[in-house]
Amino acid sequence: MADTTKLMKAGKIEAPGQASFGSADIPAVGADDVLIQVHAAGICGTDIHILKGEYEAQYPLIPGHEFSGVVAAVGANVMRYTVGDRVTADPNIPCNRCPACQRNQPNQCETLAAVGVTRNGAFAEFVTVPEGNVFHIGDLSFAAGAMVEPLACVAWGLERLHTPPGATALVLGAGPMGCLLVQSLRYQGAAHVVAVDVVLHRLTLAAELGATETLLADADQTQHLQTIAPRGFDLVVDATGIPQVLEDAFQYVRPRGTVWVFGVTPNDARISIKPYDVFRKDLTIMGSFAVNRTFEASIAMIQGGIVKVEPLISHTLPIEDFARGFELAQTDPARMKVQYHINA
Ligand SMILES: [Zn+2]
Ligand SMILES: [Zn+2]
Repeated sequence: MADTTKLMKAGKIEAPGQASFGSADIPAVGADDVLIQVHAAGICGTDIHILKGEYEAQYPLIPGHEFSGVVAAVGANVMRYTVGDRVTADPNIPCNRCPACQRNQPNQCETLAAVGVTRNGAFAEFVTVPEGNVFHIGDLSFAAGAMVEPLACVAWGLERLHTPPGATALVLGAGPMGCLLVQSLRYQGAAHVVAVDVVLHRLTLAAELGATETLLADADQTQHLQTIAPRGFDLVVDATGIPQVLEDAFQYVRPRGTVWVFGVTPNDARISIKPYDVFRKDLTIMGSFAVNRTFEASIAMIQGGIVKVEPLISHTLPIEDFARGFELAQTDPARMKVQYHINA
């Protein structure tokens, strides 16, 4: 007979397309692990791809890789955390022994494991992560603590990016990620940041958070953008993950400029670009994958008031509404970040 004292509430994806709420075993705590009682966990575009079977996930899976909570138990070897600590965690677990890890490129680890992707994540009452992945959140709210991971993805791209001071930047998509990008780019010295989206209230929010100009995506968008930046933008970043939007990004970039591939497209999508333009215009195409030891920076950016994250949270739901959360995150026109608040 099952021991119900070891069960927890959890949202699961059994296989692509099958999201359901139920129960799961409370994860075992290994000697190097921290057991976190989850308080907030956000739905990311990547989770939608996982639901649709368009990402490198392993099923059945409890997803959830953007989260915060309280330490509930620690393994015998854990040194830096005690029960009751308020924490978040970097979901990416590099092996630390493959050639990529040996070159200090842990996000390119050849056997990268990730909480909520290749092992169970935080859409549940409890999650375990290795101690080395855990970070104190100080007095940040749990809702803000669950935004550290998305901002850490932005911070990794910012580390790789070389935008000139006073740059003009175009952010395609003003969802939660687009709004984090707008704020971060402004802080990095971009003088002009234009945000484009199909949803008007997202643009209002982007403007409140620092976009110098906003544009509703429509048939005349190309013409409007040419008026705003006749020579193109130093940086065009796609925060939609829509292949056609990324393809169009190449129309808007200035010679010597950069197209930053930030949004996650379906993993088999293709776009068409003119290599001659990349050559002739000295263009840079830059990718940035996930997080790369940028959690501390992300926490500091939120604590230091550089980036506001709480205005980006549009919906909070109990974990019992697991399937509805995924529905909202895909279809609600008012959606920004959808979070489950668990044990709250
Ligand atoms: Zn994510
Ligand atoms: Zn590795």
